[in-house]
Amino acid sequence: MSEVSKSEELKEKLFLRRKNGRLTSEDAVLSEADVYCEGYKAFLDKAKTEREAVKAAVDMAKANGFTEFVIGREYKAGDKVYINNRGKSAAFVVIGKEPVESGVNITAAHIDSPRLDLKPNPLYEELELALLKTHYYGGIKKYQWTALPLALHGVFAMKDGTVKEVSIGEEDGEPRFVINDLLPHLASEQVKRTLSEGIKGEELNVLVGSHPFKDDKGSELVKLNILKLLNEKYGVTEEDFLSAELEMVPAHRACDIGFDRSLIGAYGQDDRVCAYPALTAVIKVENPAKTAVAILADKEEIGSCGNTGLESDFLRYVIGDLAKMQGGDPTVALRNSKCLSADVNAGTDPTFQDVMERRNASFLNYGVVVTKYTGARGKSGTSDASAEYVAEVRALLDKAGIVWQTGELGKVDIGGGGTVAMYIANMGVDVVDLGVPVLSMHAPFETTAKLDVYMCYRAMYEFMK
Ligand code: MN
Ligand code: MN
Repeated sequence: MSEVSKSEELKEKLFLRRKNGRLTSEDAVLSEADVYCEGYKAFLDKAKTEREAVKAAVDMAKANGFTEFVIGREYKAGDKVYINNRGKSAAFVVIGKEPVESGVNITAAHIDSPRLDLKPNPLYEELELALLKTHYYGGIKKYQWTALPLALHGVFAMKDGTVKEVSIGEEDGEPRFVINDLLPHLASEQVKRTLSEGIKGEELNVLVGSHPFKDDKGSELVKLNILKLLNEKYGVTEEDFLSAELEMVPAHRACDIGFDRSLIGAYGQDDRVCAYPALTAVIKVENPAKTAVAILADKEEIGSCGNTGLESDFLRYVIGDLAKMQGGDPTVALRNSKCLSADVNAGTDPTFQDVMERRNASFLNYGVVVTKYTGARGKSGTSDASAEYVAEVRALLDKAGIVWQTGELGKVDIGGGGTVAMYIANMGVDVVDLGVPVLSMHAPFETTAKLDVYMCYRAMYEFMK
């Protein structure tokens, strides 16, 4: 046995030491993580848009004893309910033994991801090819979205009130779509553009067909044929695009990454990598002391705006309705509540280390990331969790043996970002960001580590149980 020196002994006691979770975790835990992530990958494949995520989440909740919350009905401790907000965001609640007024434990993740929305009048024909105009949603590097198989998801909302769901390009044998890029041979001018202009917003045009409607005369016969196909399948005309929400997303499925299969690659992991843990955790909660609420929000990627985003009063009303059901005060309930804002952080990429400040950056396999503040330019646009609340969360994670780390979103003044934390903080709730480190965030294919995903789930469960 080697002898431990005095300085080593003292270092062990005084220094902050974070270790690779795959080294410190027992094999059984790593296996649990692998099993857990099979469910996660399946969820990713069936929930590529916020609408699909709500549907999948509600289905899972219902199968586990959740019923739709009815205002005016009385629920008792242990009851499980959900509130569906327009099919695009939802809250899942397990009623606690203590009154709601004494505060609830909230986990909040978002289920929208960067993508390409179709414009209201998208379809056109050029050089006898049919294309769709798009308007990108969220922060993307536009050049990443070309020459990549795309699938179309969304809805046509008809004037008679019916809604027609669209999903083309996910199943084997279904066609896909593509945005074409310029060949390198003729790109001598294009390559002089800056990276952000490499592909411009109005160049994100999706190829959707080339077969003309067979007729001797007339123009736009390819477009006509596409509309004929859409009319046959969905009963829609060109005008129905005006009240549609149709989105182009990457057609690929979630898969393991690496010879050792320790990682996951998929579209939309920001922030389904936290939404799935929040959902599965609240589903597992039984008879909590405090009421547990998991909220899956829309519109985070464009500023949490709109009535399905977290800047809206949706969460406020959810807590309010729960408090009022018991004759409690909604404001007092909010003020006593605590939240884990479950969102991703940027993991440190070996190839792009220079944007990170090593001592405060997060790393893959080092566990779930607690991010005290986000923001940019001197912490602008962050709620900056209080030391007291971070201490509480630290204690909770350590007590449960959860592998965790802290993170900062890049070096000071190199960029920045935000989460839903500040909107929840505005309601008087104590909140801190906690989530999974991601590589290639906002790309059509993002990478996470299985152990971190599992630790995120375990953190969510410990917080709400
Ligand atoms: Mn996010
Ligand atoms: Mn994001």
